[in-house]
Amino acid sequence: MPSLGPSRGRRARIWRRRWLFPSLLLLALSLAAAATVGARHLAQTSETPEPKAPQAQAPLAVEANAPATSASPNHADPSEPPPAGDPDDPAQTQYLFGKARTFRHALSAAGLNTSEGAQVEQALRGKLDFRRCKPNDIIEIERAESGELTALTYRTSKAHWWSVTRDARGQFQASAHQLPETKQRLALTGTIETSLGAALEHEGNLSGLAGAFVQVFGRKMRFDRDTRSGDRFKVLVDIKQLGGEFSGFDDPHALTYESQAVGTLEAYAYRVGRKVQGYYDRSGNAWEGGWMRVPVRFSRISSHFDLRRRHPILGRVTPHLGVDYAAPIGEVVRAAAAGTVSFAGRKGPNGNLVILKHRDGYTSYYAHLQRFARNIKAGVSVKQGEPIGHVGSTGRSTGPHLHFGVKRFDRFLDPLEVLHAPGPALTGAALQRFKAQVSDYERQLKAAKRRS
Ligand SMILES: [Zn+2]
Repeated sequence: MPSLGPSRGRRARIWRRRWLFPSLLLLALSLAAAATVGARHLAQTSETPEPKAPQAQAPLAVEANAPATSASPNHADPSEPPPAGDPDDPAQTQYLFGKARTFRHALSAAGLNTSEGAQVEQALRGKLDFRRCKPNDIIEIERAESGELTALTYRTSKAHWWSVTRDARGQFQASAHQLPETKQRLALTGTIETSLGAALEHEGNLSGLAGAFVQVFGRKMRFDRDTRSGDRFKVLVDIKQLGGEFSGFDDPHALTYESQAVGTLEAYAYRVGRKVQGYYDRSGNAWEGGWMRVPVRFSRISSHFDLRRRHPILGRVTPHLGVDYAAPIGEVVRAAAAGTVSFAGRKGPNGNLVILKHRDGYTSYYAHLQRFARNIKAGVSVKQGEPIGHVGSTGRSTGPHLHFGVKRFDRFLDPLEVLHAPGPALTGAALQRFKAQVSDYERQLKAAKRRS
């Protein structure tokens, strides 16, 4: 069985960073309403046959460590675990981890004696991280007629569980199980009634996709202001399923939005291998910038780029050659674009400073850092979005913030303008590859269009 590797988790985090924030923005603006959406499942992109969820529709799970005699079913709050069962009841086979302080406590509350508990824990050691057990995890017990413990299943989700069984010698052996992920390509077309978020919500868990529209088309269209009833959209995306249930989606292949306010917007993913390099119109012009819009999660911009600013500490007019993002100490600062570290160290009023060199003569500056990220030193190359340090207040600074500057050749530029500018267009062989990808996406989108 494949297991959840770190790369999957990392992809999930990147996805969240990329789409979640704009999607929440949009959802906040969307009213609950339906839209006419025509969906068409085009292809099962995974070779894996969909596995059956192993008895996952668990009937009743019972809080493991509540007193067995508890007979007060006063649990009106559905978020609270159901009342305790009786571990002596032979019919009782499922228990919740509940509020047990340790794994062993949970086992004992589920009716395992000291010896059984010790053997089960021993079998699972190194396979299950006991510190990550959660109240809603389920313990399933199987006993023989004689009462002997024959098997135990520890389930953290429908898709992820550990089984402990006796081998021929009567020893407990544990193994981890993970349902494989399947993907399904979905071509979706729809018409807006109130908002894009609502239209996508209507289709299931897909309102998160609205974030992709906001992120990609944000420079041309303000979805909170420009959305009109009757606008149409199309999206081609791979939906992920784990154990037969929706678990998220990949970066979309194609997005189009026919806006009555700003015209038709089309974006296609340019992929190298499986990775999306960026979104472009059909001619290969970039939708998004080559820069991250924000290199840090900030609470507010405390100072803009200003060539005639009165300095808050020095009191005289000193140009402010960057933008200040107020953010809590320790917040991760990310490389705004791919590049090479040309400096990482202490530098006078800048405090701890990282300077990155990028292509096309650009340099970016990250000042007042509390500390540097691991491995960040001169000469190291960094990817866009890679952590380079943490927000601090070192050097000449009035409070925790990131001073972010951008220079092109010898001139400092307003970072906010740079960050919002489109990235370079595709050319040459990349453009040829991209065009082939676009016609493939279009063919799949057309198939959906015919149906709606
Ligand atoms: Zn500053």
